[in-house]
Amino acid sequence: MKAGVGRERSEQLAEVRRVYAELAARPVERGCLRLTECCQFKRTGLTPYLTKGEALVAAQALRATGRKKLPNEINGACPLLHPDSSRCLIYADRPFGCRTHFCAAAGGPLARREVLDLIRRLEAVDAELGGDGARKLPVALAAALAEIA
Ligand code: SF4
Repeated sequence: MKAGVGRERSEQLAEVRRVYAELAARPVERGCLRLTECCQFKRTGLTPYLTKGEALVAAQALRATGRKKLPNEINGACPLLHPDSSRCLIYADRPFGCRTHFCAAAGGPLARREVLDLIRRLEAVDAELGGDGARKLPVALAAALAEIA
């Protein structure tokens, strides 16, 4: 499905937020302690992949902080990790991968089968928005920021 066909963009992004809310409501014994270990891409060798809907939600959240472009990466960390406070700039709107990551302190990764229905919904939004699948966070977010500029 091409962008603009089907649901309006606001509804598509509302669907992304519903997916996040449903994930949070699932009875899984785990919780983010905001240690930001998983935000250290270079150190861990892992970078979250974002579908287009996730990237647009994150881009809107970053714009809401007054920023118009992606901050520079520092020491290979996520560009959304504030260099002084070590807090995520968009925590409430952080991508799906940041909520289901491998962090042992948070309880370890969620099995794909546990969240496959939610992944499918994010993929459906990606297709509706004309995306071509999940991309690494810095690339996906830069494109989304350019799109909403
Ligand atoms: S978006 Fe936020 S939670 Fe996710 S890796 Fe970046 S700083 Fe960490």
